[in-house]
Amino acid sequence: MFEKILVANRGEIALRIMRTCREMGIRTVAVYSEPDANSMHVQLADEAICIGKGASSDSYLRIDRLISAAEITDVDAIHPGYGFLSENSHFADVCQSCNIRFIGPSSKAMNALQDKQVSRSLAKKAGVPLPPGSDGIVESEQEALSVAKKIGYPVMIKAVAGGGGRGMRVAHNDISMIKGYHTCRTEADKAFGNAGVYIEKYIENPHHIEIQILGDNKGNIVSLGERDCSIQRRHQKLIEETPSPLIENKFKSLRKAMSKAAIRIAEAAQYTNAGTVEFIADDDGNFYFLEVNKRVQVEHPITEEVTGIDIVKQQILIAMGEPLKIGTPTLTGHAIECRINAEDPFDNFRPSPGRIEMYYPAGGQGIRVDSHAYAGYTIPPYYDSMIGKLIAYGKDRREAMERMSRALGEYMITGIKTTLPFQQAILQDPNFRRGVYSTNFVEELLSGGRRELIEEKA
Ligand code: ADP
Ligand code: ADP
Ligand code: MG
Repeated sequence: MFEKILVANRGEIALRIMRTCREMGIRTVAVYSEPDANSMHVQLADEAICIGKGASSDSYLRIDRLISAAEITDVDAIHPGYGFLSENSHFADVCQSCNIRFIGPSSKAMNALQDKQVSRSLAKKAGVPLPPGSDGIVESEQEALSVAKKIGYPVMIKAVAGGGGRGMRVAHNDISMIKGYHTCRTEADKAFGNAGVYIEKYIENPHHIEIQILGDNKGNIVSLGERDCSIQRRHQKLIEETPSPLIENKFKSLRKAMSKAAIRIAEAAQYTNAGTVEFIADDDGNFYFLEVNKRVQVEHPITEEVTGIDIVKQQILIAMGEPLKIGTPTLTGHAIECRINAEDPFDNFRPSPGRIEMYYPAGGQGIRVDSHAYAGYTIPPYYDSMIGKLIAYGKDRREAMERMSRALGEYMITGIKTTLPFQQAILQDPNFRRGVYSTNFVEELLSGGRRELIEEKA
């Protein structure tokens, strides 16, 4: 049994993890940067330790300081949350060598799935379909052009080390290919310290559908079903839902097929703990492997709502060496999540850090708010702009949408700009309501003269 866990993260996910710890009778240690001193995760934890200045590289990414904090407070385990060091296999190794359990997959499994190109070959070996593309890293402009010629435009140029929707470019012809190839490499080198890029076919009318898996140390792996995350802006998710309308309305057999494929990949990597296998599906019901996220996912609560399973609790139990006691759950009802970002949707989604004046979260039946925001809280400029997640549950999609729409109208945050009015506009859109959308949806909404709809709602 773990008695004490250090949470190596901040914001809503740190709170989310501490809530489960408290329910399990496990004490918690928060770490925080100087500007986060008044943060909710510091207030909710049993103990808190300052680990440096505002920049992540001076605090949340400092392995030495995290380990010192863990040793001083004598914790049994570290939960890394998402982002920061959550997918850093070196960090997992350091924890292990200091006799601190890392709540996540083994560093070996992480390494097998780290590089996107390497995980593509693993998926291929496991017999899972991939978007057609290059066989490895594309080393030259010439090679890029010949791959594109073979698979046909449009194609995507992707950084092997990319993440968070960054390090990706679509090319429609040789000219944009040559330009994109070089820019993508330069940007990838700057952002991820790795200039390697590969090329894959751009799937038209793409649906982002991912499978949540859990694996224990005895080789049992289960799928908790899918999440449809096609409502994205610039490859970043804005709204997620489960079940996927594409699967429910059109391709019922996909859930099983994708779950099987996800489990095959996890088995090939000897994966343990929580993970998400991301796929792209097209309008004909084909699906292709994208990548594995080797951590708890931002949008995990919608799966919790329709399965009744506490995913963080399962992560902790697995890390303690417990065998999985759950089978494949049936999905009951429908859940939708909106990521509330401190961004101005009327000014090209410009980040809007600053002081929250008034704060009133939505409530009522079927509503869950996972957020670290409160009145008087100042959002520091250093980190992700997400300040909360609004989750609506209903007996069916219609009820979940009605509750979401009602809750978006109730949620009050003043002093800063948020994405709330934009999400309200999406909830009113006839195509969204019918469940007919692809990852092009947001671009179409923004360019289709629908602005007045959004402005009216603001
Ligand atoms: P999710 O589907 O869980 O939201 P994302 O890919 O959007 O997954 O990433 C979640 C968090 O992790 C975000 O805070 C994002 O900025 C961060 N992140 C993911 N991959 C990387 C990466 N390679 N480098 C830096 N940050 C990343
Ligand atoms: P990240 O690590 O940044 O999350 P992903 O490979 O998961 O990168 O891709 C992020 C998003 O980019 C996907 O959800 C999808 O919208 C889009 N995308 C990625 N690959 C393709 C593709 N081959 N065809 C169409 N869209 C894609
Ligand atoms: Mg992804």
